[in-house]
Amino acid sequence: MRKKIVVGNWKMNLTRAETESLLSSLLPLISDATAQVGVCPGFVALSTVADQLSGTNVGLGAQNVFWKESGAFTGFVSPAMLKDVGVTYVLVGHSETRGRFGKLEVPATTVGFFAETDETVNLKIKSLLPHGFTPILCVGENLAEREAGNTDSVIQSQLDGALVDLSADEIAKLVVAYEPVWAIGTGQTCDTPEAERVCGMIRAHLRTKVADVAKSIQIQYGGSVKASNAADLFSQPNIDGGLVGGASLMAEEFAAIVKAAG
Ligand code: PEP
Repeated sequence: MRKKIVVGNWKMNLTRAETESLLSSLLPLISDATAQVGVCPGFVALSTVADQLSGTNVGLGAQNVFWKESGAFTGFVSPAMLKDVGVTYVLVGHSETRGRFGKLEVPATTVGFFAETDETVNLKIKSLLPHGFTPILCVGENLAEREAGNTDSVIQSQLDGALVDLSADEIAKLVVAYEPVWAIGTGQTCDTPEAERVCGMIRAHLRTKVADVAKSIQIQYGGSVKASNAADLFSQPNIDGGLVGGASLMAEEFAAIVKAAG
């Protein structure tokens, strides 16, 4: 009953010309995809990519948002601005923007800039929903948390913080991405049974908030998804597709991942 959804996160890669070239190769390869598909370019390429996606089966995503509508917030991008360029999906709470950096080594002076908290994730979701966006809420444990046996409690607390004061109808509009931090960009994918177990745990935790609505919420796995492991991951009952970083920068590899989702 849930459609699969595969979203490419291009991160801080690709000039406009490079996005154009990647999409020219990719779009013909996935024109018959039955899964929902999206790509998230950097902010400055959104408009160009929107033009190229027009009339295709691929949705436009943004990698971040600021929760205020407008004002003196130098360097940030509002929901209204994203709406204006035709964005559908917005990543929120990605581990690369949270205050827990996982593998990233960020100089202390940039900590304030990157330090996403559960509270700011919640503010972002609340700012996106009235515009009709689909927020993709990223949650996941880092290696130290996993090794300490805290995977489930860390994720439950991220969900609790992100979903404060949201109704079941609002929560139903989200996609949740389980992204173990230690698997992102490392080539070390979470093994399928464990990815399925955590996605099932996420669904069970959502059920405590929204009862049966939890059955309809799409839950992606993200963390070194590749063509070679996508079909196995996506065949699991609680894994409804993938959030894909590195592999989404390669047309044939990403197309194979999309095909693995149906
Ligand atoms: C991501 O950026 O969300 C991600 C999962 O990256 P990668 O696929 O490169 O691990």
